[in-house]
Amino acid sequence: MALVKKLKCVLCGKEFDPESDTFTCTDCGPDGTLDVLYDYGEIKGKFTPKTLFQRKEKSISRYIDLLPISDPSFFQT
Ligand SMILES: [Zn+2]
Repeated sequence: MALVKKLKCVLCGKEFDPESDTFTCTDCGPDGTLDVLYDYGEIKGKFTPKTLFQRKEKSISRYIDLLPISDPSFFQT
């Protein structure tokens, strides 16, 4: 999540804090899905093929830094 800068509604452009755990726009409803906007400067330095390879997880949880999810336990069953 640290690499996610903000969330932006695809219909009206309203922006949301990625920590808000909001997945659709509060004004547009279910049609207002949110694009994830990344901090590409941070990604370039921190998320590389090498760092990805070094992670032990073999599931989608290895991409947690790129997902708009604040709680890593989301992936645990
Ligand atoms: Zn909207």
